[in-house]
Amino acid sequence: MRVWVFHNSGEASTNAAHSLSKKLKAAGFTVNPARPDVVITVGGDGTLLSAFHRYNAALDKIRFVGVHTGHLGFYTDWRDFELDELVQALLNDKGERVGYPLLDIQVTYEDDTTGHYVALNESTLKRVSGTMKTDVFIKDNFFESFRGDGLCICTPTGSTAYSKSNGGAVIHPRLEALQITEIASINNRVFRTLSAPIIIAPDEWVILKPATGVNYVMTIDQFNMTDRPIKEVRYRIADERIYFARYKHMHFWDRVEDAFIGAKK
Ligand code: NAP
Ligand code: MN
Repeated sequence: MRVWVFHNSGEASTNAAHSLSKKLKAAGFTVNPARPDVVITVGGDGTLLSAFHRYNAALDKIRFVGVHTGHLGFYTDWRDFELDELVQALLNDKGERVGYPLLDIQVTYEDDTTGHYVALNESTLKRVSGTMKTDVFIKDNFFESFRGDGLCICTPTGSTAYSKSNGGAVIHPRLEALQITEIASINNRVFRTLSAPIIIAPDEWVILKPATGVNYVMTIDQFNMTDRPIKEVRYRIADERIYFARYKHMHFWDRVEDAFIGAKK
């Protein structure tokens, strides 16, 4: 099996990653960044997001494993003191994997060029220097005219990130769904939005048609794009999925409890 260890630049992550690479080589694994079967990230959820985008052209061939060096994350199952157990789990690997939905983003810019992207957590369309105005369509039907700071479209696994800060629901990642949340919508006698999170079905899509001639910020996970005026953005569940080599099971709601409530200890 070909394995790669991807880490963030923190001291604890660098040390844990180097120690893990040594253990993997000693156990007979090929540790190489080219065409890995398993990518082990060492750091936090943000580190897994970076590894996801580094390898997003080969998602069907890769399984991810997350090791966290801080608090428990949503994409990380292992702690940095469990490296020997992790190597043992990889030695016993039977190809087990669990897959989760991703967000497909199709952008048409004002010059009619297009861009195609995939997000693990979410994509947002925002305006910082004034009110964002955009028409929102669900499937091809007009739904609302939005005014406010922005809109966020997230995956189920991304529902505990930015979307949750916008008052979105936490979605169990076994569900095939996308969620739209509002970022500071304007609601008064003149302007009206639903003012509630929307969860759309697997065969539905969302289209945003922002007012022309103004610059928006489009985010895709940790990335920002500001340079090109946007005509239209289409969001749907991606054909590809992200796969994790899940050697130990953690109940999703225990993870949510541990991350946000922490009352059990
Ligand atoms: P960051 O600013 O370091 O991350 C923000 C926080 O979100 C970190 O604590 C990160 O965990 C956590 N996080 C990432 N994915 C998560 C998930 N699926 N569920 C729960 N928490 C999650 O930037 P980053 O690490 O590169 O992450 C980019 C993400 O930050 C974006 O995808 C977006 O979801 C989030 N974000 C949130 C807000 C907001 O809530 N207002 C604003 C901008 C961006 P780790 O510390 O383990 O990395
Ligand atoms: Mn981070």
